[in-house]
Amino acid sequence: MSRAGANPSHSTVGNAIGVLDLQGDVFEHLDHLQRLGIDARPVKQIEDFDGLAGLILPGGESTCLARLLRIFDIEPVIVRKYHEGMKLWGTCAGAILLAGSLTGEAPHLGLIDIEVQRNGFGSQLDSFACEALIPKISSEPVPLTFIRAPKILHAGEGVEVLLRIEDFIAAAESADILVTAFHPELTGCLAFHRYFAAKCGLRPRTEEAAFDPSWNMTSWTRHARVA
Ligand code: GLN
Repeated sequence: MSRAGANPSHSTVGNAIGVLDLQGDVFEHLDHLQRLGIDARPVKQIEDFDGLAGLILPGGESTCLARLLRIFDIEPVIVRKYHEGMKLWGTCAGAILLAGSLTGEAPHLGLIDIEVQRNGFGSQLDSFACEALIPKISSEPVPLTFIRAPKILHAGEGVEVLLRIEDFIAAAESADILVTAFHPELTGCLAFHRYFAAKCGLRPRTEEAAFDPSWNMTSWTRHARVA
């Protein structure tokens, strides 16, 4: 464990949620946040961190993301903003970046006391989908999409397990950080984004059902200007 433990001071938070835009599934998260009426924006450089109540570290490839974080000197900004009160949510590769301990590898940001095994299920071909009831997140079962996913093997002090499946933890949280081994942004379920927005102190639209029927697998392309 490196930097987990110290409690953020909750001083300078804003009212937007950023999605770290270096690599991975950025637009899918932005699409979900906007469906909840949350002020959401891609975060590429240091100036983009101003006014963020929360930051999502998306899925992608953690080795690539970690290199880019270092090349653009963004790692210390995330740590500083976290200690100033910015909440964090890591999905899949993002959870790997946040973990305090990685099996057989040095950790990256090390902000939450979990042990993670990368590619815990095997190769890309061992990706799978299922669903589970996670009472803290939604009263309806939530669809779960695992893509060359990590296994969260252990959660330490101050980390609550939100979902355990067989021998691994699939979702967990500390007071200020949410981690999911799966990808809620790749389904029409908004429950996890709604939960994270509330964790950031924001007011997402709450009256709506967990699922947005207007969502489809290409909804995100409107952000990416894909014809
Ligand atoms: N296997 C990837 C990694 O180790 C994570 C995959 C994902 O984010 N879907 O970074």
